[in-house]
Amino acid sequence: MAPLPPDLPVVDHHCHLSPHGEGVAAAVRFRKAGGTHLFLATQRYEPGVPVTLDDYDRQFRTTVELAAKLWTDAGVVAYPVIAPYPIDLLEAAKSLGVVGARELQFAALDLAGRMVESQQAVALGEVGRPHFPVPEGFGEAVDDVFRHALEVARDARCPAIVHCDDLDASGFRELASFAARSSFPPGKLVKHYARTFVRSEERAGVGASFLARRELIRACWEEPGPWFLETDFLDDPARPGAVLDLPTVPRRALAFWEGEPDRRERLRIPFVDSVKSVYGFAPAVGERRPA
Ligand SMILES: [Zn+2]
Repeated sequence: MAPLPPDLPVVDHHCHLSPHGEGVAAAVRFRKAGGTHLFLATQRYEPGVPVTLDDYDRQFRTTVELAAKLWTDAGVVAYPVIAPYPIDLLEAAKSLGVVGARELQFAALDLAGRMVESQQAVALGEVGRPHFPVPEGFGEAVDDVFRHALEVARDARCPAIVHCDDLDASGFRELASFAARSSFPPGKLVKHYARTFVRSEERAGVGASFLARRELIRACWEEPGPWFLETDFLDDPARPGAVLDLPTVPRRALAFWEGEPDRRERLRIPFVDSVKSVYGFAPAVGERRPA
């Protein structure tokens, strides 16, 4: 098989890794398959849902520290993406009540915004709504939190990576208009874990991070950006195969590129151009870790 072009970054736009899971070793497998960069989304690293701001502070710092370790120990550039997980609200409400849980999410979003401003993270994520109908009494709190997330991201001038149910064209339009009401630009919104192919011109300016399935990749190639590929790897030994394995993006990129030299330029759309347009920086092979 022809190798990937040596100057092409190969980027997984959304995955989770845990210091208690496979962690660095998974990133090494990613690199060996040809991967160079990944966006490391935070996750719960402890058994219980966070119920204090300290809990979130610890969680976010774990993500930032792990990202640094992936760079030094696995040779993979990792960009931290942090925010309180929208579904945490439902669980935290069991002990804090809806009002208390909503306040905690607001405070955790403010903290995440400050960490973006001090360049410890590159985006707020995952923010949005649970991917299932929320129980009675939670609808308003969920929307308040999402709105606050967009305001924090807007003020920090960073992208917002959205967790929600799968979207069709009208779902993308609804998301863009929800964001517009908070003066949040659609070009900095990315729907993550997109499983339905929706053409760029039908997404109301919102970016899509597609699950790196073969049929979605085939559907994307003719598309202008912004769009990304992701695995949403969970690094959870209790749930092997719940999502795609971490080396999937480089493997599929390699298969796509093989024998079709013209496709080289197409690969720059998800791996370079889309990152540049949404995040304002471009991944490069061999980039140095900022001191
Ligand atoms: Zn995720």
